[in-house]
Amino acid sequence: MEIASTMVLTGGDGQRFRFDAGTLCLEFLLTGAVEPWELLHEPGDLAAWIPRSRLGVHGRVAVSQAEFLGAKRLRGAVLGLALEAARSHDTEEKVVAARAAGIDESTAAPYAALNEFAAAPPPIPVIGDDRSRGWAAPVTGSQFLSAVARDAIELFSGDRLDRVRMCGGERCWLLFLDVSRPGARRWCSMDRCGNRQKLRTRRKIMK
Ligand SMILES: [Zn+2]
Repeated sequence: MEIASTMVLTGGDGQRFRFDAGTLCLEFLLTGAVEPWELLHEPGDLAAWIPRSRLGVHGRVAVSQAEFLGAKRLRGAVLGLALEAARSHDTEEKVVAARAAGIDESTAAPYAALNEFAAAPPPIPVIGDDRSRGWAAPVTGSQFLSAVARDAIELFSGDRLDRVRMCGGERCWLLFLDVSRPGARRWCSMDRCGNRQKLRTRRKIMK
């Protein structure tokens, strides 16, 4: 039911770039777990973020204080598992650095957390008279977290785990699922870390 999508992010240096996290649960980390800043300070922040996600929510969103706190716990669980999965590649050093920089806010007992949130009902799909697809409004915080947790269970129990990657850019900790056919995606975005690497390589050659 998921739509392929990219999100426009702003890096610490102010550069805007498009990023495709590949899947909903890793996209959810963009609320603050993978960059050294936090977007979720109160329930309204999560309510504002949910329509930006690839879930395709256009109607009203309602997030309670409890759901807001739950969101951070679920995010920590997804992050811990994603870091672990990305670590099996050549990012060991960076994962350690990410943890040292306080990026890692992993939740204890992550699998139990995924199960807990997935147990809540997910958003209810609806079809309009024009056959457009959407979700019954309002989408609640717990429905959204259920969708994230279900996506995470599919990801972390499935055979795409070795496709969970951390961007190869220096000091870039963006995590994504490589859904490309060759499976050779290395960068958060070619416009950002990919280009920087190209420039660096070129400079090395010219020296
Ligand atoms: Zn990057």
